Amino acid sequence: MNLLDWENNISSHKKTTEQYKRGSELQQEEIENQLIYQKNLKKYPDLSSKTHPLIVLSPYHLPKVATLPKKRKIAYLKHIQQLIKRVVEDNQSGKNTISIHNKQYPPSNMTCFDKERMIALNEMVCGECKGRCCLNGNDNAFLDVETIKRYMKHNPELSSEQVLQNYESMITEKTHLMSCINHAETGCNLARDMRSDMCNNFYCSTLKELNTTFYKLETIPEGAVVISRFLS
Ligand code: SF4
Ligand code: SF4
Repeated sequence: MNLLDWENNISSHKKTTEQYKRGSELQQEEIENQLIYQKNLKKYPDLSSKTHPLIVLSPYHLPKVATLPKKRKIAYLKHIQQLIKRVVEDNQSGKNTISIHNKQYPPSNMTCFDKERMIALNEMVCGECKGRCCLNGNDNAFLDVETIKRYMKHNPELSSEQVLQNYESMITEKTHLMSCINHAETGCNLARDMRSDMCNNFYCSTLKELNTTFYKLETIPEGAVVISRFLS
C-alpha cells in the first residue's frame, strides 16, 4: 500500500471515559480496547496485528476551544520580541554564542528503514491524539533563542519586524484553553520550521514504542488501529 492510501489506513476510535478509575475498571478498559481491536481485525481482512498494531492513547481531558484572550497574545509576542532582540544583539556583537540547534533536544538518532512512512504514521497518530503533549506550551510555545536564530538564519532576507510579524500571523483566533497558544482545533498552527527543537524532536512514549517497529524491515507497519480516550 503506498502513502497516498494511508488516509484510509488508520482506524480511529474515540472513547469517552471517566476521570477516576479503580483497578478493576482499568482492566475493563483494557479488555474493551482488545475487543475493539479484534473486531477491526475481523472486519477488515487486510489488517493484521503485524501490519496494523493497536495504539492506545491514554485518557486525557482535551481543553475546550475558545477565543484566545488578547493578553495571552501580547505575552507571546513579547516573548518572541525578546528572543529576536537577544539573537540580533548576539549577531551584532560578533560573539555568535547562540547555536541554531538547542542541544537539550537533539533529533532522534534511531535507525529507521522507512522514514517517510514513519513520519506519515506519526503525524496521523498525533492528529488523532490532538496534542496531549502541547498542554505545557503556555504562552511561549517552547520557543527559545535557538529557534529564532535558526529561523532567521534560514530566512536572512527577513528583518526583525518581519520575523515577529510571521509569528504573529500564525496565531489563530480560537485555540484550546489552557494549552499552548498555537494549539488550535486542527492541531499545531505554527509552521514546522518555526517550531522549537523541543516540539520538532519530541516523541512521546507511545510514538517511541510504535517507531521501534521501523527498526526492522519485516516489522514496518502499514497503518494502525488507534484508540483515543478522552476524559468526560
Ligand atoms: S507526540 Fe504523542 S502526546 Fe504528542 S500529539 Fe503526538 S501522540 Fe500525542
Ligand atoms: S508549538 Fe505546536 S507542537 Fe509546540 S507545544 Fe505548541 S501546539 Fe504543540
